[in-house]
Amino acid sequence: MYHGNHICKNCFVKVLELDRIQQDPKKKVSNPEEFILPKPKEIKENLDRYVIGQEEAKITISVAIYNHYKRLLHNFNRKEEDVEIEKSNILFIGATGSGKTLLARTIANFIHVPFAIADATTLTEAGYVGEDVENILARLVSAADGDLKRAEMGIIYIDEIDKITRKSENPSITRDVGGEGVQQALLKIIEGTVANIPQGLRKHPHQDYRPIDTTNILFILGGAFDGIEKIIASRLNKKVIGFTASESSEFTTDLLIQKVESEDLIKYGIIPELAGRIPVRTGFSELTEADLVRILSEPTNAIIKQYKKLFELDKMLLEFSKESLEEIARRARSKKMGARGLRSIVEELLKNLMFEAPSIKNIEKIIISEEVVKGKKKPAILKKDKTK
Ligand code: ADP
Repeated sequence: MYHGNHICKNCFVKVLELDRIQQDPKKKVSNPEEFILPKPKEIKENLDRYVIGQEEAKITISVAIYNHYKRLLHNFNRKEEDVEIEKSNILFIGATGSGKTLLARTIANFIHVPFAIADATTLTEAGYVGEDVENILARLVSAADGDLKRAEMGIIYIDEIDKITRKSENPSITRDVGGEGVQQALLKIIEGTVANIPQGLRKHPHQDYRPIDTTNILFILGGAFDGIEKIIASRLNKKVIGFTASESSEFTTDLLIQKVESEDLIKYGIIPELAGRIPVRTGFSELTEADLVRILSEPTNAIIKQYKKLFELDKMLLEFSKESLEEIARRARSKKMGARGLRSIVEELLKNLMFEAPSIKNIEKIIISEEVVKGKKKPAILKKDKTK
C-alpha cells in the first residue's frame, strides 16, 4: 500500500498510524491500492465510541472486516498461482433495536466505503411487484456518488432476513414468491455476479443499464430470528449425551445464539446455499437497562447530548438526573423495542418544554428528574441571578 518510504521502521509505523486516524473522511477510495486498512483493534476502538455493549459482535465484525478488505487487497495483487481467498459474508442475529444496523453503518463510515441498507421484506424476484434485488445495488452505487469502482468495494446491510424464510424445510413444489424466490435472487448477488443496474432508481423501458460486479461487495444480513435458540438448544441436546433438560436450560439465549450453525438456519427456513454464504455469524444481546442508560448519554452523538445541544443553542442548560435516565431506560425496555424506543420517549418528554422555554426570559438551567419522566412533576426551571 505504501511504497518507497525510506524512513526508519518505527517512524514509518507512526506515520501510518497518524495517517489512519487523520485520513480525510471525504477521501473517496475507488482503488484497492489506495485503501488504508485499519487493524481489527482500531476498528473495534472506533466502534466503541458509537455502539454500547455488544462486545462479541464488535470483535467478530472487526476481524471480519479486516479479513474481507485484506482479502480484497490480496486478490487485487494476486499472481496466478497464489491462493484466492473466498468472501465471507456476515450474519447478525439479534432483537430489534439492539444496534445491528448501527454497527454496520458505523464500520462502513469508519473505513470510508459506500454503504446501503435494504429491507428483505420489500424485495421480490425480478418480474413481480415490489423491489428488485438489483435496486439494492443501484442504491449502493448512488451512495458511491455513481462511482462503480467504489461501489464494488462497498457494504450492503440487508435487514429482516428472517422474515423471508421458506415455510417448510422441504423445497416446495409450487414456487414460493415471498420467501425462497427472494432468497435465490439474493444468493446470486451475494455469491458474486455481474448484475445490470438501471441508471436511475426507477424502471424505464428505454433505460440504460450499467454492469456492476458484486464479487467484492460485503453483505451483512441481519434479523431477529425469534425462537432460533430453541432450534439450537434441541440440536445440542441431541448431540451431547447425558445432557439433561435442566442442564440445558442453563444456556442463556445469548450463549446459544453464539453457537448457531448452518443446519439451525436451514431449519429456520434459510435455503442451504444462502446459509453457506454467511459463514461469519454473531449474536446481539438484548440491551439491559444499564446499556440503555449508557446509550442515552455516552456515544458521540448520544440522544441526551443532542437535546442538550438544542437547549444550549438557546443559552439554556439542560440537566438530567441519573434516576431520570434510568426511568427513561425502564420505559424503553417495557416497549420491547430496544434502543429504538428511546428517542420518542425523550422527544415526548421534552415537547412542552421545547415549546415554552424559548419564550421564558433568563433561564439558566432546566432539571429533569425521575418525577418529571413519570409525569408527576414539571421540569425545574432555574433562572439567572440578575443581582450577580
Ligand atoms: P437494529 O438494526 O438492531 O434493529 P438499530 O441499529 O437500527 O437496531 O438501532 C436503532 C437506534 O438505536 C440506533 O440508531 C441507535 O441510536 C440506537 N442503538 C441501538 N443499539 C445501540 C447500541 N448498542 N449502542 C448505541 N446505540 C444503539
